[in-house]
Amino acid sequence: MSKRALIALILLAASPVHAGSVALTFDDLPVFGRTKPVADGAAITRKLLAGLQANHIHAIGFVNESQLEDDPAGRTALLARWLDAGMDLGNHTFSHPSLDTLPVDDYIADAAKGDAVTRVLDAAHGNVPRWFRFPFLETGPTLAIRDRFAAWLRSDGYRVAPVTMENSDDIFAMVYDEDIGRGDKRAARKVRREYIAFSRRIIPWYRSAARMLLDREPAYVFLLHASRLNADSIGALAGILRHEHLRPVSLDTAMTDPAYSLPDTYAGPNGDDWLERWAYTQKKDLPWDVLPVPPGGISLEAARLDSGPAKEP
Ligand SMILES: [Zn+2]
Repeated sequence: MSKRALIALILLAASPVHAGSVALTFDDLPVFGRTKPVADGAAITRKLLAGLQANHIHAIGFVNESQLEDDPAGRTALLARWLDAGMDLGNHTFSHPSLDTLPVDDYIADAAKGDAVTRVLDAAHGNVPRWFRFPFLETGPTLAIRDRFAAWLRSDGYRVAPVTMENSDDIFAMVYDEDIGRGDKRAARKVRREYIAFSRRIIPWYRSAARMLLDREPAYVFLLHASRLNADSIGALAGILRHEHLRPVSLDTAMTDPAYSLPDTYAGPNGDDWLERWAYTQKKDLPWDVLPVPPGGISLEAARLDSGPAKEP
């Protein structure tokens, strides 16, 4: 074991203060999915932010500024609302490319272009963008590519926002948006019920997986998306976190957990979360045999929509 790994393990064992907390992170701002009209985007943003504030959640949203091109003023205003509501913004690249397929120098250029507007908005609030979230959680297919991009990130003052909890919200959100778009409220309500039920099952799985791997629970970093589904579900999600005795904290606070200093030697094509990366590095396994999976109908419908002509970030 390296000295760094040993120090991280010692700190880990001595860090009960982080147990029972979770940072909520929302990807693909200003709005995830097919909801292009700004009126809809404004309603979704207002409802999501109101739900976060009502539940005292200090969240961060990760921006794809390519989304601003349709209506720069209208959609930039949606980002400003996040900051006005006391939330943070981070960089999710400009156009949501895959580091598995795009050459790393082009990827760096896309990431560098990704915070032009966010930087201006942040400056007006006395902030600078500090957090980067990899699209598809793809950190590089080889160690050389991974290290080259990591060096750029550091030089630009960014830290990686990892993920240690998620609930496949993006696939539920795609089906939900489709049902709403067709005017089928009954089908949409069913998707939302299935989404909440699945979240109730998957969150405890991450907790038991973390305990199995680390012998304690870290401050989790929960990946969600800025979707209509989450705007309509944030109260229910907050209720699940309360039931689990998971206290919402900012990403900055969660990231002081020494778990996030653990070595991660994974390089490859899979956009794995960080529990999987640490398990890979430590040559351990996670309890895959009891992993809850989304309902088959949701997965199939999302796959069908994802392969359609209106593919979204
Ligand atoms: Zn994304």
